[in-house]
Amino acid sequence: MDIEEKNKIRSKTADELKRRVEASTSPFHSILYIMNELDEAGFEKLELGSRWKLERGKKYYVDVYGSTVVSFAVGSKWYGENLRFAAAHSDFPCLKIKPACEMESNGYIRMNVEVYGGAILNTWLDRPLSAAGRIILKTDDIMNPEVRYLDFKQPLFIIPNLAIHMNREVNKGVELNRQKDMIPVMALSDDIKGEDKKNILFKYISEKADVREEDILDYDMFLYPVETPCSLGLSGEIFSSGRLDNLTSVQACVKGIQKSVPDNGLNMAVVYDSEEVGSATKQGAGSILTRSIIGRIFKNFDYDEETMECAFANGIGLSVDVAHAIHPNIPEKNDPTNKLLLNHGFGIKTSAGERYASDPVVIGILKRLCEAYDIKYQRFVNRSDIPGGSTLGAIAVANLPMRMLDVGVPVLAMHSSRETMGIDDQMYLERILQEFFCYFTK
Ligand SMILES: [Zn+2]
Repeated sequence: MDIEEKNKIRSKTADELKRRVEASTSPFHSILYIMNELDEAGFEKLELGSRWKLERGKKYYVDVYGSTVVSFAVGSKWYGENLRFAAAHSDFPCLKIKPACEMESNGYIRMNVEVYGGAILNTWLDRPLSAAGRIILKTDDIMNPEVRYLDFKQPLFIIPNLAIHMNREVNKGVELNRQKDMIPVMALSDDIKGEDKKNILFKYISEKADVREEDILDYDMFLYPVETPCSLGLSGEIFSSGRLDNLTSVQACVKGIQKSVPDNGLNMAVVYDSEEVGSATKQGAGSILTRSIIGRIFKNFDYDEETMECAFANGIGLSVDVAHAIHPNIPEKNDPTNKLLLNHGFGIKTSAGERYASDPVVIGILKRLCEAYDIKYQRFVNRSDIPGGSTLGAIAVANLPMRMLDVGVPVLAMHSSRETMGIDDQMYLERILQEFFCYFTK
């Protein structure tokens, strides 16, 4: 590939990722963006709470409570075999607004928040923040309130650092308390009328959503930094952005299933919520929900339980999530022989403790696909004295007993509000997902 061609692919990949990150400001918005893409690609929407009438040769998706989406493509000659499954997650570490959030003192009105997931807290300081999520609104039917999605889309809040003059030891490391130190400023008291001070967020939501304040029953809102993603490095080879964990994987899974024509197979791509908080929710990877949806698909084609169990036994899954790239200044934190370099390929992650879904047969299959289609990959294992993280793959296989493997792009500063990656690795990840979904032996 010549330089010009390479640069074209780099900027196209970076632009696509940038658009997704900017739109995916909450798990709900991440799912809305995906559902829009699936609509455009001709997928048909199914309701979780209605009966389905599925047909071979068609593609479908199910919106699961607004923050998980299960998409699947049924081959035109599907006979109940060849199950291919890939999964990523829609959520990311951040700050979540508490219900009664206004706190007034010293001329400030601050916003009470709790930390969602394993965020690197200091990366949330001194950054302009906005909020996105969903609001629940009154309707005439008590049992059916309206769910509406909302993104404030502008800088509104900030958590200021303490000046170095007030803590000369700051560069030796500061412990941040989740309740005391992570509270953003939302307004100055003088600019808010007395009676509004206790209800300032509801008031703002009502204006932004154009609804009456008394009609807002509840909200589910998350903060996000407003700075936009960018390419950097002297050749535009590096990409810097929030939420690379796990929108890089979301992009690869969704593009993969969009392009796939399974013919004699069943392809599934799932984007789950709740990964950053352990996956044990109704819409998380730890739920029996995916198995129940697969069961419904099999029943729709009159395949029995045993056919489905055989499909699991012969199925292949990929759990797609970011991996730790070697750090430029602290390389000793990585394994001495299984380390990930930026732009050297997507990572195949394994762990003796099964913190990642690890399967040597799937590794063998991926290696062959990579060789056949000239896709770069690297192997990743954590240093033996550093446990690393875990992924939804290891949790999903407990309910979906199929061969599954963890893969993902290498990133720096995982769980920072701003992460860094090599843009070529995204291209490799997208290509392997596409081949994974498209390669079928007839
Ligand atoms: Zn992740």
